Amino acid sequence: MSSKELEVLEDFITQNNLKITRQRRSVLKAFLDSEEHVSAEELYKLVTASEPKVGLATVYRTLALLIQSGLASELDFGDGQKRYEHKYMHSHHDHMICTECGKIIEFNHPLIEKFQEEVAARNGFTITSHKLDMFGMCSDCR
Ligand SMILES: [Zn+2]
Ligand SMILES: [Zn+2]
Repeated sequence: MSSKELEVLEDFITQNNLKITRQRRSVLKAFLDSEEHVSAEELYKLVTASEPKVGLATVYRTLALLIQSGLASELDFGDGQKRYEHKYMHSHHDHMICTECGKIIEFNHPLIEKFQEEVAARNGFTITSHKLDMFGMCSDCR
């Protein structure tokens, strides 16, 4: 696990008078080891493979800390479960979601980003964040 990310979490935790427990550390490690867009249940399975005592509630609470400290972002593709991905030191991207197999493809297109800024400026609007989710079928399912 990158010590930078553990440092970020530890700083956040001490600033907020919380404790960095062994269990929270294991959740962070499992999260960082996975490069997928994991749900809390999937992360729970990954953590308990090495730390069977960690409960689902701890996974949820640690995920909340990861979001607050800027290490994770929460995604909602409307399939009834939230997903989480790395945020720290990761550049902005958008997602394509296959409605058949659930595959998630990341993409970034400079013109899409630029046009969003243009549309916003034309409306006197300042964008603080955005997300673009495209739903459809991947090449395997089509
Ligand atoms: Zn597919
Ligand atoms: Zn992503």
